Amino acid sequence: MDLGLRGKRAIVCAASKGLGRACAIALANEGVDVVINGRNADLLERTAAEIRDATGVQVVPVAGDITTEEGRQAALAACPAPDILVNNAGGPPTGDFRNWSRDEWIAALDANMLTPIALIRAVIDGMISRRFGRIVNITSGAVKSPIPELGLSNGARAGLTGFVAGLARQVARHNVTINNLLPGPFLTDRLDHTLGHVAQVSGRSYEEVKAERTRSNPTGRFGDPAEFGNACAFLCAASSGFIVGQNLLLDGGAFNATMG
Ligand code: NAP
Repeated sequence: MDLGLRGKRAIVCAASKGLGRACAIALANEGVDVVINGRNADLLERTAAEIRDATGVQVVPVAGDITTEEGRQAALAACPAPDILVNNAGGPPTGDFRNWSRDEWIAALDANMLTPIALIRAVIDGMISRRFGRIVNITSGAVKSPIPELGLSNGARAGLTGFVAGLARQVARHNVTINNLLPGPFLTDRLDHTLGHVAQVSGRSYEEVKAERTRSNPTGRFGDPAEFGNACAFLCAASSGFIVGQNLLLDGGAFNATMG
C-alpha cells in the first residue's frame, strides 16, 4: 500500500531509539525526509546514519532537549514547514505520588503535555495553509488504563489528550489531522526500566516480572517497535484524512473491553 507520502517532510521528536525511532524509520520507508531529535548527539547521529543508509531519504539529526524552548526551536529551524509532526519525549519517572514535588509535576507536564502543544502551535497554521498536516502524539496506554506507578504519566498525558480532542475537530476541515498513538508494552529501554522498577519494589526478580507481563498479554509477547512505527505511518497517510482525534491503543489487546 502506497501511503502517498513520498517527498513529505517530518519532524519526529525523541527518535534516537525506541518508539520515536521506529516512527522515523516507518516514515522514511515511505519516502519521507525526516528531522529526528534526541539529547544524546552520538546516538542520534548513529540512528540518522542507519535510517539514511536503509532508506535513502534525507535524515537530519538535531540534538537537543525537546522539552526546552531551545530544543524545540532547533528542530523547527531544521524543518520550518513540516507536513508531519510526531510528538514524543521520554516518559516521566515511576514512583509514589507522595514523594513528588511541584517541580516534578511541572517537569512531567512540560514533557508530556506542554511540549507537544507548543510544537503543534508552531506548525499547525502552516499545515492549514498548505492543506495537509498529520500530527501524531505518542502518549500511553495509561491514558485509558492508568498504571499505578506512573501517576505522573497518567496525569500529564490525560491533559494532552483532552486538549487535542478539541483542537483536532477545529483543524480537520483543512486536511490537518491530530491523533494519538497509545503504546502498551513495547520492547524498548523504557519498558525495561519500568519492569526493573516493578521488580525492585515488589521484591521479585526482573525475569519473573517480565515473564509474568509477557504471559498476561493476550498475544503472549511484547510489541515490536516496528509495529508501532507502521501504525504511525498509516495515520500519516495521505488517505487517512478522515481519521480525526482518535486514540489508537496498541497493546496486544491487554486493555480488556468489548469496545475501546
Ligand atoms: P526509550 O526507548 O527510552 O526512548 C526514548 C527516546 O526519547 C530516546 O531516543 C531518547 O533519547 C529520547 N528522549 C527522551 N527524553 C528526551 C528529551 N527530553 N528530548 C529529546 N529526546 C528525548 O522510550 P520509548 O519506549 O520509545 O518511549 C517513548 C514514549 O512512549 C515515552 O514517553 C514512554 O513513556 C511512552 N511509552 C512507552 C511504552 C513502552 O512500552 N515502550 C509504553 C507506554 C508509553 P535521549 O535520551 O538521548 O534524549
